Amino acid sequence: MFKQSSVISDVIEKIKQKDPAQPEFHQAAEEVMTTLEPTVAKHPEFVKAKIYERIVEPDRALQFRVPWVDDNGEVQVNRGFRIEFNNAIGPYKGGLRFHPSVNMGILKFLGFEQIFKNALTTLPMGGGKGGADFDPKGKSDDEVMRFCQAFMRELYRHIGPDKDVPAGDIGVGGREIGYMYGYYKKIVNEHTGVLTGKGLEYGGSLIRPEATGYGTVYFAAEMLATRKLDFKGKRCAVSGSGNVAQYAIEKVNQLGGIAISVSDSNGTVIDDAGIKGDKWNFLMDLKNVRRGRIKEYADKYNAKYYEGKSVWDVITDNGVKIDIALPSATQNELNKRYAEGLVKAGCYCVSEGANMPSNLEAIKVYQENNFLYGPAKAANAGGVAVSGLEMSQNSLRLLWTREEVDNRLLGIMKSIHKQSLDAAETYGKKGDYLMGANIAGFIKVANAMLAYGIV
Ligand code: NAP
Repeated sequence: MFKQSSVISDVIEKIKQKDPAQPEFHQAAEEVMTTLEPTVAKHPEFVKAKIYERIVEPDRALQFRVPWVDDNGEVQVNRGFRIEFNNAIGPYKGGLRFHPSVNMGILKFLGFEQIFKNALTTLPMGGGKGGADFDPKGKSDDEVMRFCQAFMRELYRHIGPDKDVPAGDIGVGGREIGYMYGYYKKIVNEHTGVLTGKGLEYGGSLIRPEATGYGTVYFAAEMLATRKLDFKGKRCAVSGSGNVAQYAIEKVNQLGGIAISVSDSNGTVIDDAGIKGDKWNFLMDLKNVRRGRIKEYADKYNAKYYEGKSVWDVITDNGVKIDIALPSATQNELNKRYAEGLVKAGCYCVSEGANMPSNLEAIKVYQENNFLYGPAKAANAGGVAVSGLEMSQNSLRLLWTREEVDNRLLGIMKSIHKQSLDAAETYGKKGDYLMGANIAGFIKVANAMLAYGIV
């Protein structure tokens, strides 16, 4: 490991002092900043202009009240947020998350990560993130609509196609984007590309729903190829059963792998025969149309179900053999114990579909065991990359074909893989995708910030 300079350790220390109640942001900042260590000596101009201190402060962090009326006529009050973190290389861009756990610290972690991820895509997009502590689970369609409208009633004044372009994330899929975009269009009286993840009929892009999951698997395939391996016959553990997990599974199937698991916050299903064909179609209907729980899959197909257990609990405690892990649910799913469980399970490749699913100790275990480790900001950048392509199509007033968008996605994932490897080698840690991705993203944004002077 590189010896930590006072520049980096001071920045980390100050973040912890200033916002002690934001542990997820501390974790994300520490992960990024420590890997930027070798840039300090090479770039005295960044140190002089205090780029390291400036990049951890959002341009602005908005918090607002979201009052709405439920089906019983009762007034409900939620908290809405938008973090506009950094627009050095393009308009703020990043998803909206609706989940009861949402708070300022979680959104700052996500917005901060988004800056570097977006820079890696090669597209002109800054970093942002937002959402609300609203839980769409168990709400009627009408309630979700009224909440989305109330949320947009405030958010509309802060966003714009050249200013800030939100997208989906946990709890925000096609239905929610439709309600929010419809309301934006109504009050602003403009049909512009202000949200991505839109329906195809009103400005969406082909392959956007698939993009994050597909991209995570494309990135894993690139990593595997460096060891002359591929997906054929490989057992893949996928966590979550939402947007990212669904399409990661589909791409694993297309590349000849076997996706053996799927989960939600209630439990985990293990299906050794693979989640494919009619079983995958059932999963799509269950989660996107009927909005049911994953246990129903186990009941229907007689698969093993572990109530209250995560995929990583089941692998660690039951000795399930796997080759590849694709964590696709949420942050900090994987800790040291689970990472050691993966080693015992025979796993040698982790490609992160979720954001920050591995904590710092888990990453250490991957590194000590020579895993192919694709960190989130590289491995799951396919979603925002195709969001960027959706923005391009909206500006051009064109719709590209599936093949065109998928080819561009594959090209972008290959480019992110190469940029990460090249930067890791240049800065002295060959093969370290984590360091490579952080540095490659950072250098681009830092140079832009430098060009602007002190603003
Ligand atoms: P989603 O469609 O809402 O699905 C999330 C899945 O994860 C659900 O199965 C959910 O189960 C599970 N989950 C969420 N929070 C959990 C928790 N605290 N404990 C256990 N399970 C939990 O969301 P998504 O879009 O797939 O996003 C998944 C991850 O990918 C997130 O980290 C997100 O930031 C990241 N990501 C998404 C995109 C994108 O384009 N969508 C792009 C880049 C990164 P329940 O239904 O039971 O809650």
